[in-house]
Amino acid sequence: MELPLRCRCGHVQGVTDVSAGFRLVCYCKDCQAFARFLERPDVLDAAGGTDIFQMPTGRVRFTAGADAVRCLSFSSGIFRWYTECCRTPIGNTAGPRFPVVGLIHSFMDHEAAGRSRDHVLGPPLCRIYERSAVGPLPPDAAAPPSLRLFAGRAASLFGWWLRGLGRPNPFFDDRGAPRSVARVLTPSERAALNGVNGV
Ligand SMILES: [Zn+2]
Ligand SMILES: [Zn+2]
Repeated sequence: MELPLRCRCGHVQGVTDVSAGFRLVCYCKDCQAFARFLERPDVLDAAGGTDIFQMPTGRVRFTAGADAVRCLSFSSGIFRWYTECCRTPIGNTAGPRFPVVGLIHSFMDHEAAGRSRDHVLGPPLCRIYERSAVGPLPPDAAAPPSLRLFAGRAASLFGWWLRGLGRPNPFFDDRGAPRSVARVLTPSERAALNGVNGV
């Protein structure tokens, strides 16, 4: 199932196949700090959650504006990608060898085809890191992950790796280097971004 990808201003575009993946909502502090760093609080839901679709990296392809793709690292081995043009979050990756990208809803252009996110991706399967939520979760929030979901996800990820679905990797070159030099936040920058969280 093809889905167009597009940053808010349209400079960066791409296409993806969302036939396999896991939709979840992440309430972790780093995801919130990422939105804050980009000055895009609109990406988060009312409780600070980020709507993410974890899918094979090789199924994401940039078709325009790849020069504006930037990388941010919170020093925990997670590479967070966004567009420099309009500061749209693209997604999160865990290094060149992990065949998964957590694509963020803000970069998916469901509206282009007049379809809702739920229609294209199905409802979120679970929520994670809800202890970092900044407000009450909506009554219809997805449940925490079950053991069964964890196991199924692990098996799928292993399958993607076996089938080589992590490649071609649009975020890392063949030597495993990020295609855009990762900007690593200093501890004080990070503290400043997280600090707002406690208010
Ligand atoms: Zn843009
Ligand atoms: Zn997160």
